[in-house]
Amino acid sequence: MESPLLKNLHGYVGGRWKDSGDGNTFDVFNPATGEVIARVASMTAEDVNAAIDAGSQALRLSNPYSLETRKGWLEGIRDALLNNKEEVGRILCSEHGKPLKEAQGEVEYAAGFFDYAAKHIQALDSHTLAEKPKDCTWTVHYRPIGVTGLITPWNFPIGMIAKKLSAALAAGCPSVIKPASETPLTMIALFTLMDEQVDMPAGMVNLVMGKASVIGKVLCEHPDVTMLSFTGSTEVGRKLLIDTSDQVKKLALELGGNAPFIVFEDADLDAAVTNLLGNKFRGGGQTCVCANRILVHEKVVEAFGRKLADKVNAMTVGDGMTDVDIGPLINKSGYDKVHRHVSDALDKGATLMAGRHPSELTGKDLFYPPTVVSGITREMACYKEETFGPLVPMVSFGSEDEAIKVGNDTEFGLAAYLFTADSERAQRVAAALRFGHVGWNTGTGPTPEAPFGGMKASGIGREGGLEGLFEFVEAQTVPRGF
Ligand code: ADP
Repeated sequence: MESPLLKNLHGYVGGRWKDSGDGNTFDVFNPATGEVIARVASMTAEDVNAAIDAGSQALRLSNPYSLETRKGWLEGIRDALLNNKEEVGRILCSEHGKPLKEAQGEVEYAAGFFDYAAKHIQALDSHTLAEKPKDCTWTVHYRPIGVTGLITPWNFPIGMIAKKLSAALAAGCPSVIKPASETPLTMIALFTLMDEQVDMPAGMVNLVMGKASVIGKVLCEHPDVTMLSFTGSTEVGRKLLIDTSDQVKKLALELGGNAPFIVFEDADLDAAVTNLLGNKFRGGGQTCVCANRILVHEKVVEAFGRKLADKVNAMTVGDGMTDVDIGPLINKSGYDKVHRHVSDALDKGATLMAGRHPSELTGKDLFYPPTVVSGITREMACYKEETFGPLVPMVSFGSEDEAIKVGNDTEFGLAAYLFTADSERAQRVAAALRFGHVGWNTGTGPTPEAPFGGMKASGIGREGGLEGLFEFVEAQTVPRGF
């Protein structure tokens, strides 16, 4: 595709665009049309080593970049994103498929993380302890952890890197960034903006694209990479934990979710439906925070299901460049997974309340109709696995204890939602749910101001908020005697 932000389709190493060492490329598709829209450099292990070396040269420990300097980088990236929101959003829509407005909204969301980090960077300043343990004056410095590997998924091509890169730059850490092969163009657009509009030292940000196994191996094994921040599947997260264990690297992991969305009998059903639609169908249901199991009290399950089905049947699906509610799924295996979950649920006795029967679908494109099924049980695949698509599976429950038990009945612990008019119950249930984010009467997800991350197998660490800013620094204590 043509764009002023895609003049180079190479990696970026040490402040320059860099072709792959062996000249190999990979194709990027538009999921709405199936067309190849770009051929991008597929980089070698040597290219990744060069990127890490460039990062090591940019790292300053004895004479760190000042807070003011780092703040300037963050503000520069924020402004570049906001000023190019339309074009970055267009690129994002073309390779991911999400509706254009949503894609442009993601660019603004991403800019928010750079803005937050810039405004709160003083939190990373050193401080002296008021107490004088051992008769010394103690200063706590927040040192950059080192060169970091940032690995991002395709579902938020600019949002996910913004969370990591803003905190890494705030800390003064150079990074080697690897985007998902489905969506490298948005990352290239970001690098074009940083190259042209933000004055950062060569090697502070490096881009490598291509085979995950090749790039992942170098990032795990290279001793100069002291931290990896990864968002993606639990399966790959586990592999990274194993592959970095001998060097005891720091890992920040944001992994899968299986979010319960709990609607109690006293909830405002219309508000719950509206919030569920916004939460569930963002990105076509391909988000780790979207409701994956909708638990509705047995007294209201029918009424809630009817209201929901009416709204879902009215939703439009199509090319994100046109005026639609939902775009295509990212690829054939994503489509097949939704198809399998719906078929499996119906085969095992669930009821189709909105959408189309899987047997009616041709599977010739990636547009999956939004679907609601009720009567979900523990034996069904959609109860246990993350569907990552536009399926709303409803489970009914009879008591608060049962809702908590079913909600927690997953290895994951990323996001949960509960709808009730009773504030005491909300506090009780939120505390009992083992999830890093629990929305009460809202389906809203992460924001730059609040720490976000998973419990249990959903990950380690937090992104956003002051907690997120501290992920890329290490506290060093310097006691001084008299
Ligand atoms: P998804 O199912 O969302 O594609 P993945 O975990 O497969 O999730 O991918 C998330 C990111 O991790 C992508 O950038 C992908 O290329 C990368 N990735 C996949 N396998 C590895 C690996 N072994 N080492 C490092 N990165 C990997």
